[in-house]
Amino acid sequence: MSDAKRADVALLRCKSYESRELDAIIAQAAGIAGFPDVEGATILIKPNILNASPAAKAVTTNPAFVGAVIRFVKSRGAKSVLVGDSPGWQPSVLAAKTSGIYDAIQHNGGTWTEFREVSPHPIANGKKLRNIPLTTMIEQADIIINLPKLKNHRLMTYTGAMKNLFGLIPGTAKSALHLQYPAVVDFGEMLVDLALSVPNCFTFMDGIIAMQGEGPGSGTPYSLGIVLASQSVAMLDWVAARCAGYDPARIPYLVDGMQRTVGSATIAEPATYPLSEAEIGHEGFEQLPYSSELGHRLSTLPNTLRSFAGSLIRLRPIFHTKKCIGCRACVEICPAKALRLDKKNRSNIIRIDDRLCITCFCCHEVCPAKAITIGRAPLRIAHRPRNQPTAS
Ligand code: SF4
Ligand code: SF4
Repeated sequence: MSDAKRADVALLRCKSYESRELDAIIAQAAGIAGFPDVEGATILIKPNILNASPAAKAVTTNPAFVGAVIRFVKSRGAKSVLVGDSPGWQPSVLAAKTSGIYDAIQHNGGTWTEFREVSPHPIANGKKLRNIPLTTMIEQADIIINLPKLKNHRLMTYTGAMKNLFGLIPGTAKSALHLQYPAVVDFGEMLVDLALSVPNCFTFMDGIIAMQGEGPGSGTPYSLGIVLASQSVAMLDWVAARCAGYDPARIPYLVDGMQRTVGSATIAEPATYPLSEAEIGHEGFEQLPYSSELGHRLSTLPNTLRSFAGSLIRLRPIFHTKKCIGCRACVEICPAKALRLDKKNRSNIIRIDDRLCITCFCCHEVCPAKAITIGRAPLRIAHRPRNQPTAS
């Protein structure tokens, strides 16, 4: 490959997290996607550290991937390399240590950083936001390096580069935005507002072991074997979603991100190199349904039928008492305060108030025990007293 070859999105095969292979792939991807000059710069690396999960579960960006990117930016003369994230409900350092990312940072000369302080971050031309409180660490950094994991996502269908930047909002402030924008399309527009406003951002995506099935927290690993890089979060997501077998044109926030990036309602496919999406096999990758399409189908019904049909067929969290370990993560993350944990005969029973639930699936996202599934449960909303159990 010629070093001069450039593309919107670098798309390369990478079959393992072995350090020599990773070092070569990261350097190659950076060259293709136009990695900026970082000589003397302060770098903030933002991996996906969703929760305290071991690397083998593919919930977080792999620690070896984080280590390789630290080595790369240091080899390019970066002055300091800060690494941080803010899981929704657990102490971030606990999540970083459990995933192995904390050790990877130490071994490769980076510095773990907490997202404690926030300051208002202005957003020009946002559809939903004018400003948003983000970690002050982005003000201290010259360049932000975004390290998402390619995963399914129950609410957004697919999650990657744009959604990973949502973690620049510290702690539980994230769930308040679910309450403010309960509709998938509105929430997606908010995500795009935020993602496109992050300055000097470059993305390397860990798609080596992706997450299929019940992502982003309860799915299973899938060996997709790719690394992507881009200056554009929207273009990278568009390509990565295709690599997992999705049609990005059916995922509204990916369409919105691309339209705003290219400044046109007509989306041209991003140029990739050296591979094209068509060369990436995703046989057997367990996809999720396109979440926004149910809402669209409901919107075509007459008013008199919409509410009834919606309550019958909408997807909702279902709690499985036999698997629940009583950790309270779902109760604490729920932005609608719709959950309560009861203990009965040594069982942990999650009780949900369906009238409050906004189906944001934050509970499903954080459950460490796969005790929450998403499905269609019988109508229990209008005719059920508050706080009756729905545990199975
Ligand atoms: S119960 Fe779950 S899906 Fe419903 S609002 Fe709470 S966190 Fe969201
Ligand atoms: S359902 Fe999951 S998140 Fe909620 S208390 Fe049980 S194990 Fe924890």
